[in-house]
This record gives sequence, C-alpha cells and structure tokens, in this order.
Amino acid sequence: MNSMANVVVIGGGVVGSAIAYGLAKIGGRGAGVVVLDEGDDAIRASRVNFGLVWLHSKGDGMAAYGFWTRKSCDIWRQFADEIRDETGVNTHYVKSGGLNYCLSEAEFETRTEMITRMREQADNDPYEARMIDRAELQRLMPRAQFGHEVLGASFGPHDGTCSPLNLLHALHAGLKKHGADYRPNSPALEVKPLAQGFEVRTPRGTITTPKVVLAAGHGSMKLERALGFDVEIIAERGQIVVTERVADMGILPANGVRQTVEGTVIIGSTTEDVGFDTSTTPQAGATMVRRQLRVFPALAHVRAVRTWAGLRTLTRDECPVYEASEQYPGAFIATCHSGVTLAAVHAKVLADAIHRGKFTPEIGAFHGRRLK
Ligand SMILES: Cc1cc2nc3c(=O)[nH]c(=O)nc-3n(C[C@H](O)[C@H](O)[C@H](O)COP(=O)(O)OP(=O)(O)OC[C@H]3O[C@@H](n4cnc5c(N)ncnc54)[C@H](O)[C@@H]3O)c2cc1C
Repeated sequence: MNSMANVVVIGGGVVGSAIAYGLAKIGGRGAGVVVLDEGDDAIRASRVNFGLVWLHSKGDGMAAYGFWTRKSCDIWRQFADEIRDETGVNTHYVKSGGLNYCLSEAEFETRTEMITRMREQADNDPYEARMIDRAELQRLMPRAQFGHEVLGASFGPHDGTCSPLNLLHALHAGLKKHGADYRPNSPALEVKPLAQGFEVRTPRGTITTPKVVLAAGHGSMKLERALGFDVEIIAERGQIVVTERVADMGILPANGVRQTVEGTVIIGSTTEDVGFDTSTTPQAGATMVRRQLRVFPALAHVRAVRTWAGLRTLTRDECPVYEASEQYPGAFIATCHSGVTLAAVHAKVLADAIHRGKFTPEIGAFHGRRLK
C-alpha cells in the first residue's frame, strides 16, 4: 500500500525515537510523523546499554561535545518529568553525580591529567568535574565499603542514570500519544530521492515524504549513500554482567558499576572490536567482575545471574554526527555513541532544528567532515 507522510524517521532505537518524539510534539497530531523500525531480533544498542546519563568523560578533544552533553544533562530532568506525565512511564532518571574509580597511583594520575585537559579545552568549563580522594569518597557514600586499593575517583556532578528500557518504552508511548505512526517490523528497504522529496520502500508499500531522517544505528550505513551521506559507524562490542537483586548499597553510579532501581548491580562493559558478533565470553565477564571486586569486595557474596553483549554505534572520534544533506535538501542523518545521555537534546533541540530544516552552529559543529 502506498502512503504519504510529512516526515519519515528510519530507526526506532533511542536516537530515532527521541527525534521522532520531538518532531511529533512540535507538530501535534497532524505532524504526519512515521517511524520505521525492524523487529525484536534487530541489532539495537538501545536495549543493551548501561543507562548512564553521563558528562564527565565526554568530549576529550572536542569541546562542542562537552557543551552539547552538558545541555542534555541540564534538561534531562524536565524531559523525564514531561514524558512521565504524558505517558505514565517513569524513566527513573536521577542526577546523582558519577564516578570513575582509580585503583592505583598511575590510574589516579592519568585521570587527573584527563580531567584537567578537558576542563581547560574551552573557555567555559562544562564539566565541573574534579578528582576526589578516598576520604571524600567515604564522606559521599558513608555506607559503602571500599576495597583497600581504592585511592579515589574522578567525580562529575552532572552525571546520573536512568532505566534505558523504560526510556525507550516512554519514547514509544510518547510517539503514540502525539499521534506519530510507529511501525515495527517495517524496515526501510530503499530510500530514493525524487524531484521533490523522497520515496521510502518498505515490505508493506512505499511512503512518499518531503523529509527523511536516517537514525537507524548500524542500519544507517546501508541506506545513507542514496541520500548523499558518507558516515562511518563502527561496531564495538560491550559485554555486561548483572547480579541478583540486593539491598541498597548506598553507592553512586560509576563507569563500570552501578546499582539499578530494582536492586541488581550491573557491571560492565568491555570495548571489543569483533565486528557484529554479540556473543558473551566468560573471560570478559570474569575480568570485569574482578575489577569491581577490588572496588567493592562485598560483591563476592552476590550471585551473577545474567550477561549480555551489545554493539556500540561509534564514529571515529566517538562524537555524534548530525548532517543535513546538501545534495538532497530534506534528508538528515543522526548517529551517536551516547544516545541515552543525549535523548533530551535530541528530543528538544535537534528535533526542532530538523523541523525548521536548518541546523544552528551548535549542531552544525557535528558535521562528519571533521572525520575526513
Ligand atoms: C554495552 C553498551 C553500553 C552503553 N552504555 C551507554 C550508557 O550508559 N549511556 C549512553 O548514553 N549510551 C550508552 N550506550 C550507547 C547507546 O546505547 C547508543 O548510543 C544508542 O542506543 C544508539 O541508539 P540508536 O537509535 O542510534 O541505535 P540502535 O539502538 O542500534 O537502534 C537502531 C534502530 O534502527 C533500526 N533499523 C536498522 N535498520 C533499519 C532500517 N533499514 N529500517 C528501519 N529501521 C532500521 C533497528 O532495528 C534499531 O531499532 C551503550 C551501548 C552499549 C552497546
């Protein structure tokens, strides 16, 4: 069946859904937003991630990414409240501050250098991160029992967490609420520029639209050339180990270990170059768990119950790419490594720019030409 839409968003992961949610909200029920997605067996980073809404390690070497991430962290609370009020789905967002533990003098020194470098790379430091020693860690978390090797950590006051599955669920519920047409099991098979607009072919017919947003994670690379884009998206495997539920440990989230609102402790995640292989390996699980046992020895008494692996959607410099096609006006591409963290700016700021058809310099800074 052939149909028409005002905008077709290709990809219903956290990036495509956040943009589509923003577009549907701006345009109201008549916005004519269609979201095409694959089925449950798709490669989808949005269902396998760590749930950090994280600033303090983002943008080393690209200050614009630090500011963009800070903006997202600043509006995440409002975004979370809005989407909960609209859909009844709680993303469990908490801006708690976040840590990166250091287990040796060498780690503490390297981390100090990185934090100093990042804070100095732009005039207005967006991070406000600092190094803290073991005594301060203990003051921040009076109930936590640290291993003897914990020397300190870097601390980012704007970091936090959410439930990533609830976030995706909330976005999909929000799409429905605002009248967008979310179509699972309807992949875009081909996108063709027309004299005016675009034609998107799906297994259930062709959609004609003046605007198309390519946000299909790893699936974007199959379609992008036809729209004049050439963005490399690299797969990097991340494995995660999850424990049984335990009583509240009174710990702040850290890169590598956090306790979820349900009480499980999640430990992660590897950075492996294995192509599109999403299997888990006992060796990787053991290495990650061993490190976190050095941080919290009491975890030795907690049972691991599950492992999984997902594929990050990385660019060469790990910063986002947003482009408006020069060759085919009306076509946009969006991809990033931190889709959970950036969900708030994608829904509120990027969607607005796509709606207007014009990128501000803030967004234009993320053009992929910097990687050529
Ligand atoms: C182990 C791990 C831990 C992570 N931890 C964090 C974290 O703590 N915080 C954070 O901010 N980020 C984290 N990330 C990154 C985050 O998960 C990703 O940035 C985000 O999920 C990317 O979302 P996406 O929508 O671009 O891609 P995906 O989630 O991969 O979604 C792409 C979607 O497009 C669909 N698709 C593909 N091809 C087509 C097509 N032809 N037609 C229609 N639909 C199509 C797919 O089915 C899928 O639904 C982590 C990632 C991993 C792997």
